[in-house]
Amino acid sequence: MHLNLHNKHTKIVATLGPASRDAETLRAMIRAGMNVARINFSHGSHDVHGETIDLVRRLAEEEGTVVAILCDIQGPKIRLGDLAQEPVVLNPGDSITLTLDDVVGSNGIVSLPHPEFLRDIMPGTTLLLDDGNLQFSVKETTARELTCEVVIGGALRSRKGVSAPNAKLTLSAITDKDRKDIEFALSKDCDYIAMSFVRSANDIRELQWLMKHLGKEVAIIAKIEMGEALDNIEEIIDVCQGIMVARGDLGIETPAEEVPFHQKRIINLCNAVAKPVITATQMLESMTDNPRPTRAEASDVYNAIIDGTDAIMLSAESASGNFPVRSVEVMTRISRIAEQHLRRMSANNRSAAAKVPDDGPAGEYVSDAISRATFDISRFVKPTAIVTTSLSGYTTRRVAKERPGTTILCMTPSVTTQRRMALVWGVIPLLVEEFTTIDEMISIIVRAAHDRNLVHRGDRLIIIAGVPFGIGGQTNLMKIHTVGEAGEI
Ligand code: PEP
Repeated sequence: MHLNLHNKHTKIVATLGPASRDAETLRAMIRAGMNVARINFSHGSHDVHGETIDLVRRLAEEEGTVVAILCDIQGPKIRLGDLAQEPVVLNPGDSITLTLDDVVGSNGIVSLPHPEFLRDIMPGTTLLLDDGNLQFSVKETTARELTCEVVIGGALRSRKGVSAPNAKLTLSAITDKDRKDIEFALSKDCDYIAMSFVRSANDIRELQWLMKHLGKEVAIIAKIEMGEALDNIEEIIDVCQGIMVARGDLGIETPAEEVPFHQKRIINLCNAVAKPVITATQMLESMTDNPRPTRAEASDVYNAIIDGTDAIMLSAESASGNFPVRSVEVMTRISRIAEQHLRRMSANNRSAAAKVPDDGPAGEYVSDAISRATFDISRFVKPTAIVTTSLSGYTTRRVAKERPGTTILCMTPSVTTQRRMALVWGVIPLLVEEFTTIDEMISIIVRAAHDRNLVHRGDRLIIIAGVPFGIGGQTNLMKIHTVGEAGEI
């Protein structure tokens, strides 16, 4: 596969599962535009996940591209125990007991083996089951049982999820299972860990502390799916490396009609501080069974990109659906169209002058000013590519935040940064050797892009960098360069 500057800018996260773990399908998904592989630890064994991660790495290398591995950790998800016969059909007004005891459930009593959850539930609490399809009202509580009345009935099945949107839960953010999964994900050298049911910045700090203790720290994506996380969103964004708008659980924990508002607000907040944001769940849901998306789904993907999402995500569509490759292809096609419109909009909507900061670290403002200027200058210069040289990805993210119409080539000597950049809007990350002088930098980065057929003699580039090299986070140099002018190729 050839990297292509004219490919899409929006990144595609695809959840892998039984429908997409074979080499042929995976290779086709990578060619169709998958940038990040999501490994969902709510399902599957370590053996299978390990094989899948190894396969993604091998195929990405064979295809000459970068696919980041995102390990999504289940978190404190509350689930019912098993039922003797299923489904159990419940009607409004029925009484049902949820118990800590290890009973095989029937229509009068079902096991709920989560003492830490029962502890926080009071009479009057509303419980939503099976993604909100059933609703119970808690009438009485004891140390071991909740007696509930069915408010919205339906067919109940084993191991369905239970949530209490209005309860103040004190569950630990990281369960014993999570701890084992995190240890495994780190041993497989994953690029991102997605943390489920985050409520506050302290949950993220707990995961950071755990990783430090385990001897390896990777980037954290905070999944926003709890009402409490919405209240603490700024501080959560501040401490993590990226955000997922996890609309599935968010639409249970908060009213579904409020999800679009939360999505737009979260994307805006992430864009403002240049942190990557993923819009997730039900984007092309009908493509789990059908070869074409609904018009509403096409609109949803398009609008998320116009809103400013870095990445769009496939869940069941790619993990267990009938059309995993087509789902990626459809996302790629919608992205290309949305990006044409986004380009015109970002040029028209730009404020005349940047907000001038009056305090804070000067280096940060210089980086921001150069990133903004890169956008403005790129409209006149019309470069083939914007080239950032980046140790940590800091400047690259800031340039991407401006949503330039031109692909950003992120040249980095760090494998970690290269892989992380796979999630960031508009960025093609390339691994290069370290350099110490400006001449050396030009020679190394132009040859890296030229060798991969991304740029040709006579092409114009905007190169931005931080001098002296090797310090990171202090962009202070911009050069408009014509490929070949320094005899570098
Ligand atoms: C979600 O709830 O939207 C989500 C992405 O999380 P999960 O798939 O783990 O439920």
